[in-house]
Amino acid sequence: LVEIRGVRKSFGDLEVLRGIDLTVRPGEVTAILGPSGSGKSTLLRTINHLEPVDSGLITLDGEVIGYRRQGDLLHELSEKEVLRQRTRIGMVFQSFNLFAHRTALANITEAPRRALGVPKAQAEARARELLALVGLEDRAGAYPRQLSGGQQQRVAIARALALDPSVLLFDEPTSALDPELVEEVLAVIRGLASAGTTLVIVTHEISFARDVADTVVFMDHGRIVEQGPPSQVIDAPAHERTRSFLQRVR
Ligand code: ATP
Ligand code: MG
Repeated sequence: LVEIRGVRKSFGDLEVLRGIDLTVRPGEVTAILGPSGSGKSTLLRTINHLEPVDSGLITLDGEVIGYRRQGDLLHELSEKEVLRQRTRIGMVFQSFNLFAHRTALANITEAPRRALGVPKAQAEARARELLALVGLEDRAGAYPRQLSGGQQQRVAIARALALDPSVLLFDEPTSALDPELVEEVLAVIRGLASAGTTLVIVTHEISFARDVADTVVFMDHGRIVEQGPPSQVIDAPAHERTRSFLQRVR
């Protein structure tokens, strides 16, 4: 369960998040839509404390992101504690960000071995299961440059899953891909959704969002303009800004 309450964030004079309230329930898929610059990536980055919030609070299963509660006070976590907390929040970026000099298998085992101290054989066994899950069981020994963009992104998804996170965040996972490679990545994400993985996905793929999301959130200028089931937000938006955005991206 991710609870975002009253989150604000500015960069200099620019207020990028202007009071965000959002609840992500376990097993649900939340799709975030909105124009460029509306604060979607910044919001995702606050969830794993890549961007500390200026005010408001984010909790994951009751634990405050970036802070430890002590009575009524919040104490900032150490860097090490932040890294530990981040192991429960998977993130997949637009630009795969795989380690270029490591095989697909080694990319996936790296975090469990380093962050959680999982023994090599156990980490590799799990990595092979995850490669099978994303349809790449035969590419364990391949280096990123030997893989297509869609395959690299599927390795990145397997890598994010390797820590068994409570929630998996996607920031435009298909927008760097050639059009013919988009569907294989969306298919993997659909599979995760139907397996009950908790997902938050920033995407411009409107029909994908309609298919896969339990909740669609439309952001504009740092605010959530509307949120609800796809049948409401995508098919019958209440706000003019949502309507004009959907018309533009379709
Ligand atoms: P896009 O669809 O283009 O990815 P977005 O909705 O993800 O857009 P953000 O990346 O969250 O938007 O950016 C929101 C605003 O904050 C933009 O105006 C951006 O330029 C600004 N911004 C984001 N990160 C920083 C930063 N580290 N320093 C200064 N400004 C930033
Ligand atoms: Mg973005």
